[in-house]
Amino acid sequence: MNNHSLDHGLSKVIMPNKAAIYVRWSTDEQTDGNTLSIQLGACNHYLKSQGWQVNENLVYIDEGCSGGNLDRPAMKKLRRDVKKGLIDCVIIWKIDRLSRSIVDTVDLVLNEWKYYCYVKSVNEPFDTSTPMGMMVLTLLASFAQMERESIFLRTFSGRVKSIEERGKSPGIRMPYGYKKGDERGTFKIIENEAEIVRRIFKEYIDGDGIYAITYRLNEEGIPSRTGKSWSKDTLSKMIANPIYTGKLIWGKMQNNPKRKMEGEKRRLHRDNPIIRQLSEDVLKPIISKEDFEKACEIRKSRNVFEHKKTSGRIFDSPNLLAGLLRCKKCGSSMYVYKRTNSVYTYYACRGHREKGVSFCDSGYIREEDVNQLVVAEVKKTFLTGETNLLEIISERYDTTLRGLQLAQTSLEAKLKQLDAEYAKVFKDYRKVDGGISAEDFNVIKADITQERNEVNRKLESCKEEYEAQTSKGIDASEIIAFSQSLTIWDELTFSEQKRLLYKWIDRIELNKNKGRFEKFQIKIRFQSMLEDTEEAI
Ligand SMILES: [Zn+2]
Repeated sequence: MNNHSLDHGLSKVIMPNKAAIYVRWSTDEQTDGNTLSIQLGACNHYLKSQGWQVNENLVYIDEGCSGGNLDRPAMKKLRRDVKKGLIDCVIIWKIDRLSRSIVDTVDLVLNEWKYYCYVKSVNEPFDTSTPMGMMVLTLLASFAQMERESIFLRTFSGRVKSIEERGKSPGIRMPYGYKKGDERGTFKIIENEAEIVRRIFKEYIDGDGIYAITYRLNEEGIPSRTGKSWSKDTLSKMIANPIYTGKLIWGKMQNNPKRKMEGEKRRLHRDNPIIRQLSEDVLKPIISKEDFEKACEIRKSRNVFEHKKTSGRIFDSPNLLAGLLRCKKCGSSMYVYKRTNSVYTYYACRGHREKGVSFCDSGYIREEDVNQLVVAEVKKTFLTGETNLLEIISERYDTTLRGLQLAQTSLEAKLKQLDAEYAKVFKDYRKVDGGISAEDFNVIKADITQERNEVNRKLESCKEEYEAQTSKGIDASEIIAFSQSLTIWDELTFSEQKRLLYKWIDRIELNKNKGRFEKFQIKIRFQSMLEDTEEAI
């Protein structure tokens, strides 16, 4: 919360007919003078004293409602109306009328309403249109943050304690593979489910994609926890859940305070969740730490690939080249197509499908023909003995990196130069006499800032590219390894083949006219440091 300045973020004139009154009164407060009529009267009085009008449509009364949460009819309507822009200012008798919870109050005033309306309390120096009022609020906010954290810590330590002392149930949903143990707060392995968990991890580590594993589980009719079919989501979460190594996580997610304002995600990932290894008599691991870490590594490495290619699902697709293929005629990506009753799968142009034949008249191409040709081409490129492919590649690689380094150095120099320029102009501007005018200074400042941003952008992309190139880490030994795997290509698993092709090929262009007997051409574009190859069938 400390990133909130005292600036409200809202700067508007309160329209005389857009001031609202909110009143809340709960039955257990009868005696403390907060009665409805007193509150209402005071708010009306205050409103008039400001020269505003009482707008009957903007008086919100929650009778007999506690302030424990915001789930009150009039409060709900008030929040809707604020968002509609009907209200410039909300007047309350005391802050606790909004809510008894500091957290809720702060979320409401500082987040949800920040850009919509002010809040003024009749009885306290709480007026968010003034710096003083904002300071009070900021103070409140820091208390609210403390309260949030202590709630979190209380919950967390409570849960750990309950599990370790086995006094209470741990209060989490039992993950697939486990059920509640005989003693409260313990976990017990369900052996046939644990077998499936082990299988999923094994297949994943052996190179299968989540999609492929999900597909097979469903094909074999193995039920999930809910008795329904498996989803990719469930499997992705399982692969990433350290509970299978005996660890519990708390506080992975937190509520997003901004969600009401900007329609963002309701929950956010917390930066540093608390992870606790539990003893084996509480929770027995199903997966070894080593295997879990291997799965993590694979997940990370696939993310790198997926980031590069357009679709995140490519690795899971059962088609060897899906995602690498582009239509030469129109540049669209290709999709996989299977006619009903046909044994063959085809690659076809997405542009043709979506925009019609006038946009692209590319024809269907049998998947296995393309696959065969591509593999043959790749083999030819890497295995035709004498070419000094290695030399060519490493030279290009070095040149690329050197070029990027040079660019980076010169961009950094440019930044320094701009900073120096700015410092000089600023000094001139600050001179009592003979400096430059404020107007000139502002123009120059804007120019420099713009140029600085531009240079910064270039520098960033330069760094990114460098990172990408080095992380690709294509070196001689890898090329040799790749050549060797090409010689035993048919012995590799599908996933291995696919991973290799994705590593070395940037994209493949396909060209085919309509008509069953038309020939097609391919052009393979290898990753930047390799030559392209072109072939027809
Ligand atoms: Zn096309």
